[in-house]
Amino acid sequence: MKTPEPNFSRREFLRRNSLTGLGAVLTPSLLANAAEKSAFTVLDDPRPAAPAFSVADAPALMGGRPVRTKEWPIWPQWIPETDEKRLLEVMRSGVWSRAAVVSEFEQQWAATLGSKRCLAVVNGTNALITSLAQFDIRGGDEVLIPPYTFIATVSAVLATGAMPVFVDIDPNTFQIDPAKIEAKITPRTKAIIPVHILGLPADMTRILPIARKHKLVVIEDACQAHLAEINHRKVGTLGDAGCFSFQNSKNLAIGEAGAVVSDNSEFMDRCFSYQNFGNAYGSAGSVSVSLGTPYQGTKLRLTEYQAAIGLAQLKRLDAQTTTRNENAAYLKSKIKDIPGIVPYRLYDDVTRAAFHLFAFRYKKDAFKGLPREVFIKALSAEGVPCQKGYATLNNMPYLNDAFQSKNFRKIYPKEMLDFKSYVERNRCPENERICNEEAVWLTQNLLLGSRQDMDEIAGAIEKVRANAEKLLTLK
Ligand SMILES: *Cc1c(COP(=O)(O)O)cnc(C)c1O
Repeated sequence: MKTPEPNFSRREFLRRNSLTGLGAVLTPSLLANAAEKSAFTVLDDPRPAAPAFSVADAPALMGGRPVRTKEWPIWPQWIPETDEKRLLEVMRSGVWSRAAVVSEFEQQWAATLGSKRCLAVVNGTNALITSLAQFDIRGGDEVLIPPYTFIATVSAVLATGAMPVFVDIDPNTFQIDPAKIEAKITPRTKAIIPVHILGLPADMTRILPIARKHKLVVIEDACQAHLAEINHRKVGTLGDAGCFSFQNSKNLAIGEAGAVVSDNSEFMDRCFSYQNFGNAYGSAGSVSVSLGTPYQGTKLRLTEYQAAIGLAQLKRLDAQTTTRNENAAYLKSKIKDIPGIVPYRLYDDVTRAAFHLFAFRYKKDAFKGLPREVFIKALSAEGVPCQKGYATLNNMPYLNDAFQSKNFRKIYPKEMLDFKSYVERNRCPENERICNEEAVWLTQNLLLGSRQDMDEIAGAIEKVRANAEKLLTLK
């Protein structure tokens, strides 16, 4: 049997194999199995070695031939043969609101992580808000967070009325720097949100003892870190609660959805109650149900069809995570010695990462001073799509907008809400350099390709570097 290229469309794969007679002998389930495999397994690439390019060729950004023209693996993946049966059952049942399929997804996600409980909610942002609120993080409290994160981490803190306090990052790992946490702790500090940003685990081994010492609640933002591990334990299960996102771009994609996980059953009962209007649930409010709704709540319930999509995606997550880890390690080994390219570092006790993003630092001095913007354009033109990633979040107007709200003005002393001095207090120079000058990202779907794909990424970077002087003449 001819080995398909990893990102042949499934239809193309089926067509080719039925043309060679295979379709006639494979049972539908075998066929579906083979089709599913073809969509994500790294297979030996049957193409002849990549058409030779020389790093001295003209850069694609200036009209030269790109290193690569082939498509990258698509994201998200949908495989009708394996994915649609369950979804159609849900649609035909008419039970679309939260019921048995959501519970099944929650049980499977908890089991996959090794957590006692899981609650699915509408998105990762609200998973964070739910967790903060049910640990009673409220107005007047301070919450420690890294500035190198998606804006939702900060929005969640502001939504509870608490004050975000930024702790600078370690530029080698892109994660919150444990050495800088204690200096930011005040009597108001009640919680810390370590974010496993890029899908690389934060240094929980050092963060947890600091949190214990200062009695801080630890809520892990694992929205990019599905199946990442520290000492073989999944991130999201190491703190008091873990929050996940299943938004379209995430490593487990449902479109929109999120989850809270924890071993604390009283807390989880409160979270469940909260996402269902504050109605009684388990240990939460069971005493006097006759009095009606016991808690202040909201509505964040997931639908059955979202859960059916999640169950389909979950079947592939482990194998995809292995592929991303293998390709990331290989790509890192290929580019780490290129002058001016400094790939991410993992902490020593990380046993698996999620690689939602593959990040490296770009040092323009080793590229003849070529600005990062031009490097990114040039690499993208070579057929390797990349981006600069996050902007600095600790100085943007949305913070001041929150500070000027009626609630904030009633809760905090005036000095705390002075935006200029807030920005000054929360400066994070390492993060500024990463955001404004150095970070370059490749998205996770690129890591679902073959080894040859990784070789092409490395080759394209080398080619841009060899052409740095020419690229500098671009206006
Ligand atoms: C995606 C993401 C969130 C928010 O998740 P949504 O499902 O988009 O609401 C929070 N934190 C981080 C680090 C994320 O990447």
